Amino acid sequence: MPARQRTFSGMRGVAAVPTYVVMQPTTLCNLDCRYCYLPLRAADRRMPVAVAEAVAAAVNPWAERGRFSVVWHGGEPLAAGRDHLAALIAPFGPSVEHHVQTNATLIDDDWCAFFAEHRVRVSVSVDGGRERNAERVTRAGRPAYDRIVRGVATLRRHGLPFSALAVVSRPEPGLATELYDYFLELGCDVLGVNIEETEGVNLRGNAHDAATVTAFWAELVAAWRRDPRIHLREVEWSLRYASAILDGTDDDVLPRRLDPIPTVGHDGSVTLLSPELAGFSDSRYGDFSSGNVLDTPLAEILSDAERTSWVGEFLSGVEACRASCPYFGFCGGGHAANRYFEQGRFDGTETEHCRNSKIRLLEGVLEHARDHQSPAA
Ligand code: SF4
Repeated sequence: MPARQRTFSGMRGVAAVPTYVVMQPTTLCNLDCRYCYLPLRAADRRMPVAVAEAVAAAVNPWAERGRFSVVWHGGEPLAAGRDHLAALIAPFGPSVEHHVQTNATLIDDDWCAFFAEHRVRVSVSVDGGRERNAERVTRAGRPAYDRIVRGVATLRRHGLPFSALAVVSRPEPGLATELYDYFLELGCDVLGVNIEETEGVNLRGNAHDAATVTAFWAELVAAWRRDPRIHLREVEWSLRYASAILDGTDDDVLPRRLDPIPTVGHDGSVTLLSPELAGFSDSRYGDFSSGNVLDTPLAEILSDAERTSWVGEFLSGVEACRASCPYFGFCGGGHAANRYFEQGRFDGTETEHCRNSKIRLLEGVLEHARDHQSPAA
């Protein structure tokens, strides 16, 4: 637990310029994972090239000034097909970095040539070994695992580096070590681990025993420290924060303002802060969209971000977190979608998601540090 409660100065308001944009080339996914939050994943609604051109008009100058990424996220982005994805990428300038978040099942030699030609960085969604992917099934309900590992093997044969993103549905003793060893073998160079979230059309509960989740993260740190070949996203964030506390620079860890993370839907609508809200609507908040790039330049949508009613409500929630939560300097107030899908509004504070993936993560890293302190320390 952080030693003191203090006021952190980061995360005040929404930044006018993001560090990345999420784009939805199609709503379609060829899989039907049981924990998926996407409402339209059975429909193939493709993004017109005019939407990509409108986004590129804003993004290209930003990318000239500093590192900037476009993340192609679906649905399953490869389900849009190579020709269409190439047409969507074409308006972006050479300084823009492209990423795809994919289930890997469609990756073949031609896709690998495409990734190399367009310098697309690949992140694969895979939850560990065969039995850990039981929730990842095709539309016919058959396990997708063999197709996932075939896609990953193709990436490796082409010498393409890749990241991995794993969803953990039930943290339990031994799982963290098993997962870390699996991903070492799989050959990814970056790994993100998410405890399953209750959001979108996935209404499964995500409350877990506190000690079990803390022990999961502590075990993951221990596995990583034995062989730290993979950049382990959550653990590295936590260690960076812990070392900033020791240096007295912990108030510099959070960005000064929230990254707006615009998600541009297939039809050009822009949802801010939480990609998971795109495609949903609510009688109180409408469709969560802050505008459409086909009508309004993206920079203008972002400069008016705080006028979107739910964004203003979320900013009140961030201030409530700042005032009440000893983990704020690490977390920065959490994610809008977790508040909405767990609490039905945006101005609450602690969610199951922040307990699982922020509070217990930091506790787990500290538990590991305490257990491995030298006796002289
Ligand atoms: S989201 Fe949760 S962990 Fe983050 S600052 Fe708010 S209460 Fe704390």
